[in-house]
Amino acid sequence: MISTSTPRFAVIGHPIAHSRSPAIHAAFAAQTGVALQYEAVLAPLEGFGETLRTLRDAGLAGCNVTLPFKPEALNLADLASERAQLAGAANTLGWTSDGRLWADNTDGLGLLRDIEHNAGCKLAGCQLLLLGAGGASSGCLGPLLEARPARLLVWNRSSSKAHELVSRHESLAARLGVQLAALEHLQGAPGRFDVVINGTSAALHSGRLELPEGLLNADGLALDMVYGPASAPFLDWAARAAPGARRRDGLGMLVEQAAEAFQRWHGVRPDTAAVLSQMRAA
Ligand code: NDP
Repeated sequence: MISTSTPRFAVIGHPIAHSRSPAIHAAFAAQTGVALQYEAVLAPLEGFGETLRTLRDAGLAGCNVTLPFKPEALNLADLASERAQLAGAANTLGWTSDGRLWADNTDGLGLLRDIEHNAGCKLAGCQLLLLGAGGASSGCLGPLLEARPARLLVWNRSSSKAHELVSRHESLAARLGVQLAALEHLQGAPGRFDVVINGTSAALHSGRLELPEGLLNADGLALDMVYGPASAPFLDWAARAAPGARRRDGLGMLVEQAAEAFQRWHGVRPDTAAVLSQMRAA
């Protein structure tokens, strides 16, 4: 039952109409019995800070943040988790009891949970290729390194961004004993990878990713952070390149990153398998 005192949450972005976060958080709330309101809010491109202040004054208890406001969300925070700082972006915000704005980034945790728990694919010791060096890939690199693959290569269309992302994570990789490097050309990739993750938005902009067929191991995993029909070009490539490989779109990651945010706000972790099936069916 929604009353005026029911805690208010939101996802803020531009655009935002496509967001599935309100449906996911409503499903978590129904499952766990947590009372909340969760709405999608369109902020003007130059008005994220103002929108956040207005919503806070109206009683907002926490929010998710999506494109293009994740870096700005981090900059506005009084307290930021280490992984949000490393990512240079935040997707989850809330306020401490004394009113300070905290920021976290749950994208990478969501991706990792989807790979290791939902797909049952352990990353420790594997050869991993990450395509893309935008906000989503930045948010995921730290948690992917924490899973200790033997080697993680990052390829990006603009290679300077891949180098920048790699250099920002160099000391973490060294501490964890992971071989981390930027890959200049996909055609010259050194051997096949156990896991290939597509963190580019190429398909959303009708762009084509030219991927050679020899990238993916026969029993590997191909995961597209994009979900729904837009994941078809990458997952079709994977089916051609390695017919026996497992293929996943980004819906599992989306539900899992939402569950991490839900847990931070409400102290309870929902059963994501049930909600993922529900979202898939919808
Ligand atoms: P950004 O805009 O920050 O980055 C886009 C990335 O895609 C860059 O690396 C860019 O390369 C690359 N790219 C864009 N077009 C092409 C192309 N035609 N060929 C090759 N590379 C291209 O977006 P995000 O990183 O935030 O998001 C990336 C994708 O991940 C989106 O599709 C988004 O929907 C998805 N996502 C999914 C989530 C989930 O929970 N499932 C969570 C967050 C994001 P360059 O630097 O050269 O421009």
